Amino acid sequence: QSFAAYNLSDEINRAIKVLKYDTPTEVQREVLPLALENHDLVVKSQTGSGKTASFGIPICELVEWEERNPQALILTPTRELAVQVRDDITNIGRFKRIKAMAVYGKEPFSKQRDELQQKTHVVVGTPGRVMDHIERETLVLDEVKYLIIDEADEMLNMGFIDEVESIINELPTNRVTMVFSATLPKDVENLCHKYMKDPVNIEI
Ligand code: AMP
Repeated sequence: QSFAAYNLSDEINRAIKVLKYDTPTEVQREVLPLALENHDLVVKSQTGSGKTASFGIPICELVEWEERNPQALILTPTRELAVQVRDDITNIGRFKRIKAMAVYGKEPFSKQRDELQQKTHVVVGTPGRVMDHIERETLVLDEVKYLIIDEADEMLNMGFIDEVESIINELPTNRVTMVFSATLPKDVENLCHKYMKDPVNIEI
């Protein structure tokens, strides 16, 4: 099996080649076809499995370059993960000139506000700072079509449930939601049940 099976655009295939991803990992083989068809997904998988590219590739493939406002929102529990995911998306989307940015606490709000005024396809952020940007109306969510909750178990362990729910309630309901988590405790399952549409469950 190779990435050629997914009929990705030339720009994305070129980036995959530069990144030296020769064959899709297991989570990518499971997630890619369904994500490219806009299914809601709950994915139980570990870090190191290639999960970031499993949502990063479909997002980069599906966003419209012309649109100025963010089309994908990725929530992560930590700043380090937000930066990592932002970098991975930037690499996957480089030939399509996808603009991804990370928003997190401990970096000046004004810097992020200014950056959000430029064209941005993908926003990756921690729940607290994303909420700040929503409340101060510096992040426009009207065009968001993809919501990814990465490391959902960690996110809820860190006490972010209220922020996560407030953010979800600000998003268009006509969207695709994907939840990635190493474990699926009850609170993660409840969140999925509450906010997702017939999700396909994938266990790696
Ligand atoms: P992740 O689980 O998303 O943190 O990815 C773990 C590592 O695997 C990262 O360094 C990725 O760049 C790398 N990676 C992701 N997909 C592939 C692939 N298909 N082939 C080789 N390496 C990959």
